[in-house]
Amino acid sequence: MQAMPDRTEAESLYRMVDAARNVVAFTGAGISTECGIPDFRSPGGVWSRFKPIDFETFMSSEEARREGLTRFLKVRAEVGEVRPGRGHRAIAALVEAGKASLVITQNIDGLHQASGVPADKVVELHGNGTYAHCLGCRTRHELDWVAHQLETKVGAPACTVCGGIIKTATISFGQPMPPEAMRQAQDAAQSCDLFLAIGSSLQVYPAAGIPLIARRSGARLIIINGEPTSFDEVADLVIRADIGSTLDRFNY
Ligand code: NAD
Repeated sequence: MQAMPDRTEAESLYRMVDAARNVVAFTGAGISTECGIPDFRSPGGVWSRFKPIDFETFMSSEEARREGLTRFLKVRAEVGEVRPGRGHRAIAALVEAGKASLVITQNIDGLHQASGVPADKVVELHGNGTYAHCLGCRTRHELDWVAHQLETKVGAPACTVCGGIIKTATISFGQPMPPEAMRQAQDAAQSCDLFLAIGSSLQVYPAAGIPLIARRSGARLIIINGEPTSFDEVADLVIRADIGSTLDRFNY
């Protein structure tokens, strides 16, 4: 991947952001790789190691639940403590300046909030992986508690309040999308004048369709990603370079 964007592309990006009245940022796993969190599809990414467990399998098999939670905690332990990167900080600066109104993320790492974007300006389409919850009564359970249950008990942990199924607060394949988050994301895509799609291969639907909603509603679309995406052809500007290096200019 190219580290720095071409000068002309970078200038176009800064000019388009400058001219925009209402920017919406849409992020994927690529914005967090510089923080040490692997993405899904790059070599060495999570999918080259694990086949995903879909929602139906998770719900129907206690063994799959134990396996899914164990894997998740293993990756979390390998990744260790994470802090926002240059891309997160640049987006936080655009929000703080009133330039960007909303951050829509497919990521589950909570790093936009950690970079200072107020929680009500972050829409998490695929949930949040920094905690677990009961799928029945929605009681929150901390991941350290889940880890302790897995270490000390057989089977999968159950909710201490209602006995329900415990899952990380993320959205798995086959699990219904959070309706309120989808609505907010679609509304924002329809009303912005510049949509920045950053660090996503734009392959996971329905989230991947949101940049297209923005484009069709008249917004300009900029895609910043290290490799080609499904929507490069319809974008007004495609920057195929490192995200942190490209966006760092907004940090000054
Ligand atoms: P993806 O893995 O499909 O795509 C990430 C893209 O980012 C790739 O095309 C890759 O080339 C690019 N990329 C990686 N590092 C980059 C960098 N430094 N500069 C420029 N480009 C870079 O990820 P996705 O589109 O977000 O979809 C995968 C799903 O995986 C999402 O739904 C998300 O929930 C989940 N996921 C989240 C995290 C996280 O929370 N950090 C991590 C892995 C996967």
